[in-house]
Amino acid sequence: MVKTDVDLLILGAGPAGLTAAQYGARANMRVLVIEELAPGGQMLFIDALENYPGYLASGPEAFKSGFELVQAMHRQATSFGAAFITQTAQSLQKEGDVFTVTLGTGETLRGLAVIVATGAKHRILDIPGEIEFSGHGVSYCASCDGPFFKGKKLLVIGGGDAACDEAQFLSHLSPQVVLVHRRDRFRSQKALAERVLHNPHITVRFNTRLLEIRGAKKVSSVLLENTLTGESYEEAGDAVFIFAGTIPQTSLVPSVQKNESGYIITDQEMATSIPGIFCAGDVRACPFRQVVVAAGEGAVAAHSAVAYIDRIKEKEAFGEAL
Ligand code: NAP
Repeated sequence: MVKTDVDLLILGAGPAGLTAAQYGARANMRVLVIEELAPGGQMLFIDALENYPGYLASGPEAFKSGFELVQAMHRQATSFGAAFITQTAQSLQKEGDVFTVTLGTGETLRGLAVIVATGAKHRILDIPGEIEFSGHGVSYCASCDGPFFKGKKLLVIGGGDAACDEAQFLSHLSPQVVLVHRRDRFRSQKALAERVLHNPHITVRFNTRLLEIRGAKKVSSVLLENTLTGESYEEAGDAVFIFAGTIPQTSLVPSVQKNESGYIITDQEMATSIPGIFCAGDVRACPFRQVVVAAGEGAVAAHSAVAYIDRIKEKEAFGEAL
């Protein structure tokens, strides 16, 4: 019988990885979650989880933060026996039925199946001033940095759910929020867009592109362009919050099948094109990226991985073909 350190290796501890850890450990698998940062992923940036099932708008269950949910999910997974390490996974190899993850320290860990739940990182605009003023007025997280700019003039860039959600959050901190979107309509869910459009603290600038972020030591203005007329103009502002979408983190699995945007394709069992590698959460090709979706996918991925591991163990024990 082949010897491994654990049965199931989970890469990433966002809502998908945490849920997969819980389901895997509860199914009596030896589960190890490898996360390079603190558990939580993008969920840590969510100020109010108003659309997570069971989180009511008022009373003791009112709008829990992403952080609170992460803490509870982590405790739950650990209570069932899942182990967590804070390390960077550098590479993933498969030899026979065994997967080996090599960590940044050079240490290796072996398992019989892998769930890739590495999520997605925010996209940068790559414009002048963006990197220079990052942390000095340029931010990618309203709930983290918004409170530093109470009452100031705030610009939000993007037209998706994140931009609308975060503009809404910032409008509680300042009456001067300008939402800048390059097209003439939002990409976001209709309910979020409607709320933004009716918010007296938010001014929406459609057909407008951010060209440059300016300032001395911190942000003091931006250069905007009207995409219909081509006219550019400078506008005062104290902070720029950028929500231009996300980039899937797939460097550990270069050869699994992906869609044209680089997200991992799975079947309904969350199985990727490589047997034994499953995938869940924001890194997976899915039209609707939500905490609840990631958690659901994590549960399915764990269920499928457990069945796969059982088949590998049976094959090892009885020499049967899979
Ligand atoms: P997204 O849906 O991909 O939207 C990104 C936005 O940024 C788009 O409006 C896009 O413009 C704009 N953009 C992209 N590149 C740009 C550039 N170079 N310059 C200017 N604008 C640019 O990404 P997201 O809003 O981060 O959401 C990611 C996922 O998380 C989605 O699946 C979303 O549903 C989910 N999410 C859900 C919630 C919620 O349910 N409350 C909250 C946050 C995120 P175009 O529209 O012109 O392409």
